[in-house]
Amino acid sequence: MMIFEKVKSAIDMKTVAEGYGLHIDRGGMTLCPFHNEKTPSAKIYGDNFHCFGCGEHHDVIGFTQKLFQLNKPIDFVKKLNTDSGLNIDIEKTPTKTDISEYQKRVNEQKTYREYEKNAWQILCDYLWLMREWKKRIPASPDDDLDGRFVYALHHFDYAE
Ligand SMILES: [Zn+2]
Repeated sequence: MMIFEKVKSAIDMKTVAEGYGLHIDRGGMTLCPFHNEKTPSAKIYGDNFHCFGCGEHHDVIGFTQKLFQLNKPIDFVKKLNTDSGLNIDIEKTPTKTDISEYQKRVNEQKTYREYEKNAWQILCDYLWLMREWKKRIPASPDDDLDGRFVYALHHFDYAE
């Protein structure tokens, strides 16, 4: 298998695009990095990128090439290889085990990103809860303190 095929088979378009900082919404749409726009008109498919605004259409390799304006094909394959953490040994022909290992690595990264996203979500929800708790100010100094109010006062800055 040629290096192009190796890289293409080991990584999907979404992972590449997200890896380079594109925000992809639930519908798979994203702001096009190749023309100026405020609402997303580019769609991320399984193995390619297509912009309905400017017509740019690329697979993972073409996308990386265009994004970084790399001229020599081997340069952008190498870049993608390194940036995506595939770390394929370009000089040698990969075995089946190698390929399944690349794919495993890609999947692990994906799982990790999901975990990370969930963790942020939980933290944000928690912060929002504490913001609500901070509103439970006692009407007078003699009133009983709501434990959550006190907790929020002590931990809000940290969570933020
Ligand atoms: Zn575009």
